[in-house]
Amino acid sequence: MLEVKNLCKYFGGIHAVDGCSFTAERGKITALIGPNGAGKTTAFNCISRTMAPTKGEVWLDGERIDGLRPHKITHKGLSRTFQISRNLADMTVLENVICQSQVRGWRDLFRPAMSPEEIEKAMGILEFLGITRIAHEDGSNLSYGQKKLMDLAALLMSDPKIILLDEPAGGVNPTLMEEIVDHIKKLNAQGMTVLIVEHNMELIMRLCDRVVVMAQGRVIADGTPDEVRSDPAVLDAYLGGV
Ligand code: ATP
Repeated sequence: MLEVKNLCKYFGGIHAVDGCSFTAERGKITALIGPNGAGKTTAFNCISRTMAPTKGEVWLDGERIDGLRPHKITHKGLSRTFQISRNLADMTVLENVICQSQVRGWRDLFRPAMSPEEIEKAMGILEFLGITRIAHEDGSNLSYGQKKLMDLAALLMSDPKIILLDEPAGGVNPTLMEEIVDHIKKLNAQGMTVLIVEHNMELIMRLCDRVVVMAQGRVIADGTPDEVRSDPAVLDAYLGGV
C-alpha cells in the first residue's frame, strides 16, 4: 500500500534519512522504530511531504506521491499526526478538529464558519474516541493525552486509508495509553492501515504486525516483532554500538 524507496533527506552534511526503503502493507500495523535521532520523524515528514525529500520515491496504492503537496496527499488517503500537538490558539476541541483537518488547505485554515456537515462529522469522531464531553473545551486546557486524542480526531476527519502516527502514546499516562491502543486496534479492525513511530517497546511489540528498525538514517532490520527483538543489529543500535 505505502512504499518508500531509497528515501533520503540531507540537512547540509547531516544525512537524517539516508537511502531508506520499506513498505507498510494494507490493513496491517507497521512500526517504525529506532534510537533517538535515527531519522524516523524526518522520514514521516518526507512521506507526508511536510518536508521535501532530497531524493527517493514514495508510492501510495501504486501512485507516486512524493511530488504532491501535503493536502493533496491527504486527499489521496494518507494523513499523519505530529509528535507535538498542533492545538490552535483560542479554539475549542471541536473547532480544532475541524480546522486542523488536513482536508482543508492552509489557505482555509482560518475560514470562520464550520459547516453543519463538518460539525456532525467531527462530533461523530469525538464520540467514536469517547471524548464528546470535551468538545467545547478550550484546546489549550487539555491534558497531554487528551491533546493526542484531539489530534487523532482531526486526522480522522479526512477519512484516511492510511494513518501515520508520530508517538501517539508518548508522555501519556498508562490508562490513557491503553485507550489510545484500543482506538488504534479498533481503527485497524475496520481496515485502516497504520504506520506508527513510538518509543514504547512494550506497546510496539503487542500492537504491531511488523517492525521496521532505523538507525542513522537507514533501515537496519525489518520483520515481525519477535524477529526484530532478537536481531543482533537492533540490540547493537539500541545499546549504542552502531
Ligand atoms: P527521535 O526519536 O528523538 O524523535 P528521530 O528518529 O525521529 O528521533 P529525527 O528527528 O528524524 O530522528 O532526526 C534525525 C537526524 O536529523 C538527527 O540527527 C536530527 O538532529 C537531524 N535533524 C532533524 N531535523 C533537522 C533539521 N531541520 N535541521 C538539521 N538537522 C535536523
